[in-house]
Amino acid sequence: MNVCVVGGGPAGMMAAITAAQNGNKVTLIEQNDKLGKKLFLTGKGRCNITNACPVEELFDNIVTNKKFLYSAFYDYDNSETVSFFNSLGLKTKVERGERVFPVSDHSSDVIKVLKNRLEQLGVRIMCGTRVTDLMIENHGTGDHITGVIISGGKDPGINADAVILALGGQSYPLTGSDGSGFAKLEKLGLKVNRREPSLVPFSCRDRLITDMQGLALKNVSVEVKKAKKVLYTGFGEMLFTHFGISGPLILSASSYVKEDDYKDGITVTVDLKPALSDEELDARILRDFEEGQNRDFGNSLNKLLPSKMITAVIKRSGIDPAKKVNLVTRQERKRLCEVLKGFVIEIDGNRGFDEAIITRGGVATSEIDPSTMECKKIKGLYFAGEMIDVDALTGGFNLQIAWSTGHLSGQCRMK
Ligand SMILES: Cc1cc2nc3c(=O)[nH]c(=O)nc-3n(C[C@H](O)[C@H](O)[C@H](O)COP(=O)(O)OP(=O)(O)OC[C@H]3O[C@@H](n4cnc5c(N)ncnc54)[C@H](O)[C@@H]3O)c2cc1C
Repeated sequence: MNVCVVGGGPAGMMAAITAAQNGNKVTLIEQNDKLGKKLFLTGKGRCNITNACPVEELFDNIVTNKKFLYSAFYDYDNSETVSFFNSLGLKTKVERGERVFPVSDHSSDVIKVLKNRLEQLGVRIMCGTRVTDLMIENHGTGDHITGVIISGGKDPGINADAVILALGGQSYPLTGSDGSGFAKLEKLGLKVNRREPSLVPFSCRDRLITDMQGLALKNVSVEVKKAKKVLYTGFGEMLFTHFGISGPLILSASSYVKEDDYKDGITVTVDLKPALSDEELDARILRDFEEGQNRDFGNSLNKLLPSKMITAVIKRSGIDPAKKVNLVTRQERKRLCEVLKGFVIEIDGNRGFDEAIITRGGVATSEIDPSTMECKKIKGLYFAGEMIDVDALTGGFNLQIAWSTGHLSGQCRMK
């Protein structure tokens, strides 16, 4: 078969390699002048290729439409991803949280081995070429793909028996995945779910919060609520920035907050001392107070809190910072404990696609056969990667989605 893969990201490269390994004649089309522009940025330039957890745990880290991924993950799981890269000569290592990285710590090495493999298999790579439309015919047996139209060039049409779309989502649009392909698919009558930024920092207007920029908190727990409804609880690390809050815990939390939720008011409540009960925390504060009985309250929290946080906690506690600690009442201590165990941050939105690690939404899973990745309405058309309405938490799981769906779609199984 002639197979045309559109999108030279991880999903597209994996699809092209698989299709070529199966003996097909493969063309890979990428609009950028090189392959894997987003892949290059992954894992802060180190590329967290996948996660070495047991395969069942992969599903626990999928936020949207996990059942859709059963066939893809069981067809090609995380251990196969690691074996594949190792077989290409890329040595890998496992770090904290079972995150898998190249030993070299360079995402460019991941791209290099994929490109080498594509070339070795004789895949025709067309960079700097944009697909503008799909060629579809109907001979009374339903719609069939017949090829793609490309922009400019002498050869505006490329015929194909199968076309695999791996166009990515809409996040980090400068890397090429700008979401422009979705409108075309909607015109063809396919359901495409609303795209929203996910794994994205939260913004916040409160100066008390933005004044803490640069502060990283480890081992805190957060509860994210829409009005009274709890959307997310988690434990880990967060970061204060000039615009609001970020860090691994906050990025994960954002996966559970929809764009419409912000209208109802989102709050992030941080427990700054999750290891201590209210009583233990009060006893700890009393101990600190006793050690410096004549100290002002404003100078008594440096053992308990990082310095950047002290002003905010004092303000929220309502206790006069000039008050001597031996005059702080039990009631005031109770209020202080409440602030420490429930430091509330009001969120007014997120930082949008420009700063979102991934896109939630995309081609509806109801349009795709999960056992082949083929489009149910247009025969010979396949989807792979982030453009499908599936998304995962951080830890290598989003790339595993790309590898698994890329591999399954690359088999071009037709039903
Ligand atoms: C900063 C950052 C760090 C990340 N780190 C990690 C990580 O460490 N681990 C992890 O698991 N995930 C990570 N991710 C997520 C991961 O990068 C994506 O989930 C993954 O790249 C999706 O792969 P994809 O092939 O589906 O799409 P993409 O990588 O977006 O590739 C799609 C490609 O299609 C091309 N294209 C689009 N339209 C056309 C067209 N019409 N014609 C031709 N070409 C077209 C685009 O130019 C693009 O190159 C990170 C994301 C970001 C932004």
